[in-house]
Amino acid sequence: MLKKVVIQGFKSFGEKTEITFEPSITGIVGPNGSGKSNVAEAIRWALGETKTKILRSERQQDVIFTGSQGRKPVGMAEVTLILDNSNKHFPLPYAEIAITRRFFRSGESEFYINKSPCRLKDIHELLVDTGLGKHGYAIIGQGQVDEILFSSPEEKRSYLEEAAGINRFRMRELEAKKKLLETQNGITRLNDLTNELT
Ligand code: ATP
Repeated sequence: MLKKVVIQGFKSFGEKTEITFEPSITGIVGPNGSGKSNVAEAIRWALGETKTKILRSERQQDVIFTGSQGRKPVGMAEVTLILDNSNKHFPLPYAEIAITRRFFRSGESEFYINKSPCRLKDIHELLVDTGLGKHGYAIIGQGQVDEILFSSPEEKRSYLEEAAGINRFRMRELEAKKKLLETQNGITRLNDLTNELT
């Protein structure tokens, strides 16, 4: 469960903003253009979303706060998600998991799990089969219901597989196949060398 989101320098959030989610339903209300969708985008972004179309921007840099009346632009966007792990849903020995993403105007990215630097891949691996990961169904944006309903049978299967929790194994299968291929290539090279020497 998502407990808290801390946003700083992301889109309309020039100032550090903390949003706490209680166990029941949370609604975010506000006038048009006040930044409601930016909250959902900040969550997606921290979970590793890189597609600019989904983030309603043209370049990766567009997510960084560009300033507003009386507030200067900033050089870095940072979003932290605090997830509850008291039920050990995630395979880490902590009651809370903090996922942080930072992006600098220079184009550098940083990712952290509980304040330890990590790769985006580590975040994807942590979230696989939770519905929160890449192509997860936990966040359904405007127009996405239709997209899911009219998706191809293969795409529909991928949603069901995420819910059934088998993507973790698919990921491991791909990694094992890659290693197998590398080993086979190694054997071929070794055989070539042996043939040359004998
Ligand atoms: P609606 O109800 O119309 O859907 P909303 O409350 O969901 O609106 P958002 O779309 O989340 O609003 O926010 C849009 C606002 O975010 C705009 O005012 C836009 O100027 C601001 N914004 C987007 N990117 C940035 C940025 N990089 N820096 C500063 N402000 C930004």
